[in-house]
Amino acid sequence: MPELPEVEIVVRGLRQTVVGETIERVHLNNTPPASIVVSDSFKGGGFARALAGRKILDVTRRGKNILISLSGDVTLWAHLKMTGHFFYRDKSLPIDKHDLVIFDFRSGRKSKDGLNLRFNDYRRFGRLRLFPNDELWEQDGLKALGPEPLNLSADGFVILCTGKIRMIKPALLDQTFIAGLGNIYTDETLYLSRLHPRRLVSSVSRRKLVELHGHIQDILKFAIHKMGTSVDSFSSVNGQAGQFQKYLKAYGNEGKPCERCNAKIIREKIGSRSAHFCPRCQRI
Ligand SMILES: [Zn+2]
Repeated sequence: MPELPEVEIVVRGLRQTVVGETIERVHLNNTPPASIVVSDSFKGGGFARALAGRKILDVTRRGKNILISLSGDVTLWAHLKMTGHFFYRDKSLPIDKHDLVIFDFRSGRKSKDGLNLRFNDYRRFGRLRLFPNDELWEQDGLKALGPEPLNLSADGFVILCTGKIRMIKPALLDQTFIAGLGNIYTDETLYLSRLHPRRLVSSVSRRKLVELHGHIQDILKFAIHKMGTSVDSFSSVNGQAGQFQKYLKAYGNEGKPCERCNAKIIREKIGSRSAHFCPRCQRI
């Protein structure tokens, strides 16, 4: 699943390509009804009709959410979930059966004529939601998001963790605790910090929490620099794969030797998710 760095790469790609464009027409291509949510405020019009004629003003990220700000005080809110992608492609390329929504733009900006934006999602868990701006932040999935890890100071992180009697891996995955981390980057940061994923947050020393905060920020920045991690299908809007998978030390390395101590990295279910860690360096 795309996490903060991958979503950031998509947001930057969208900013470079479609900001300033005006949506002329939106085509739905056998789109499953669940893929799209439209506020009741757009009475009777439906998704495609509510989008036509709107200009793309900006694209931003909050956690793993993509917020496409449109004219008329409306936001197209996208979540990629497992395999959602935005591709900015030549119009003449055939429509893929997983191109669920196709956005055509009004021509006029000469360099970009002939390209359209496609929301492609073969697992179909991704969501596109359309809301007036004044309803947006009341929605589940946005209203209770925790802080952004790259904007959070070490002190802020320590305060966030203080008194939290819960295991550290599920806490870091909880989007209402901290927004944007998923399985890959939690495994990697806990490995670098030598913290067992089942360790209780409240039992971690202040010094160790400051260290963990540093690893979270460093790894997210480095992964953004490497255009994200492509272990599944992730790619940017121009189809380019990420490179951070070459640097993974714990995630996906089950059975391989730990770089530090040579013990085998193990994978264990914790809650509903699996954690990869070194049983020797990451003692509980
Ligand atoms: Zn080790």
